[in-house]
Amino acid sequence: MRIAIIGAGLAGLTAAYELRDHSVDVYEATDRIGGKLHTVAFEAGPTDMGAEAFLARRADAVEFFTELGLADSLVEPSGLGSLVYTGGQVRPLPRGGVMGIPSSSDPVKHLVSAETAARIDAEADAAGFPWEVGGDVSVGALVRERYGDEVVDRIVSALLGGVYSCSADDLGLRATVPQLANELDRLAAGGSPVNLSTAVRGLEASRAELPTGQGAVFNAFRDGYQELYEALAEHSGADIYVDAFISGIARDGEGYRLKGGEDVVYDRVIVATPAPTTALLLKTLAPEAAAELSKVKLANSVVVGMRFATDEGLPQNSGVLVAADEDDLTAKAFTLSSRKWPHLAERGGALVRASFGRFGDDLAIRAEEDDLVDAALDDLQTATGFDGRAAGLEEIYVQRWFGGLPRFDAAHLATVSATHELLDASPDAAGIFLTGAWAGGVGVPAVVAHARATAEDCHD
Ligand SMILES: Cc1cc2nc3c(=O)[nH]c(=O)nc-3n(C[C@H](O)[C@H](O)[C@H](O)COP(=O)(O)OP(=O)(O)OC[C@H]3O[C@@H](n4cnc5c(N)ncnc54)[C@H](O)[C@@H]3O)c2cc1C
Repeated sequence: MRIAIIGAGLAGLTAAYELRDHSVDVYEATDRIGGKLHTVAFEAGPTDMGAEAFLARRADAVEFFTELGLADSLVEPSGLGSLVYTGGQVRPLPRGGVMGIPSSSDPVKHLVSAETAARIDAEADAAGFPWEVGGDVSVGALVRERYGDEVVDRIVSALLGGVYSCSADDLGLRATVPQLANELDRLAAGGSPVNLSTAVRGLEASRAELPTGQGAVFNAFRDGYQELYEALAEHSGADIYVDAFISGIARDGEGYRLKGGEDVVYDRVIVATPAPTTALLLKTLAPEAAAELSKVKLANSVVVGMRFATDEGLPQNSGVLVAADEDDLTAKAFTLSSRKWPHLAERGGALVRASFGRFGDDLAIRAEEDDLVDAALDDLQTATGFDGRAAGLEEIYVQRWFGGLPRFDAAHLATVSATHELLDASPDAAGIFLTGAWAGGVGVPAVVAHARATAEDCHD
């Protein structure tokens, strides 16, 4: 069987690896493989400018990396806490709760007004809210309604924004905090009043019952994600074409030809590109699926990686999130990478990643490189007091992520399942398979799992 894969990001390369017993060609539009995984050669060592960590509690991901021979490359973080910049100063990011949504005011008292604290504590005794089992809502709308704006703007949006480059108002509960949606389902199905604090407390209680000592929640690769994407490419045995932009898929007999690809008729095609590109590629073969998928929008972001000669004065924290209602900073987050990761601290000096951009805010992606670096240095100093210019800025890398992440809004899961149903109902697309961050979740383990399942379907 001849298989083409469009896109050499994590999803495409994982699928290629899973299909290594077949004849596979991978087409990548840019001049490098890895997509949103991008390790850059800083003089001090390889440094990630896209994803930098993954959820190590996903045993399937750890097993997969072990199968690839990468078990010894996995490293744990220092465990230092994070901060949130709000009201003109940094304060500890609350622990507990779920994605910054607390079950009581205790962990967030230092971040919200007395009125908001009282409102959170009164929520459990307030009338429950209508909740349909299997229903969905935007995270922002739900938390604003129950706890007020401060919890969303100072905590929840900062945390979710760090993962999805979107504010809580642009994100669906079931797609981004599924455990909370399931807990609301459980309350509603059991006939109990549905309250936010009750649901969060239920989750905290079930978490407390989990065995401890499972190791760090997150891991990274010692030499960056290049270890993963290079291993996948190598072990896949696939022919990988870079600078190969595919602009269309056409039916040829029982198979498919790619516009921009080799002169080959493929039995199967896996499309592993971001949602809007996938929609364009499906336009002729499955127009209804394409129209549905085109509803998925992307958020742009920018990462500025900065290496300093000294780490003196850099706080002993893993990172700083910026509250969404803080107008005096442009950056939305800082990862204090050399504090967060002991293997990066060993290199000496300091490594900091500044992140810019949220869905709908494209100022950063269009900004000049010098302005971005100035903003990163100024904002870092305002938030933490660390004077990067005085600390000796030795290396800089500015990475623009056009369409970095899909927006997982409250309609996202329905859009994804409708796209798959419409694709299945398109006779011309019987040999076409779809994967990527938009399809199964943005986190590295979720992308890997979806790509593996897609590869499995493809060779059945
Ligand atoms: C800044 C940032 C930080 C992140 N941090 C983390 C993190 O710490 N932990 C985590 O788990 N996840 C993180 N993520 C998410 C994770 O990196 C992504 O979800 C994942 O890498 C996406 O993989 P993918 O293969 O679906 O898509 P992509 O990486 O986008 O790959 C798609 C590929 O298709 C190619 N392509 C597009 N159009 C065409 C075409 N027409 N023809 C040929 N090729 C084409 C693209 O060039 C690209 O290489 C982060 C993402 C970003 C942007």
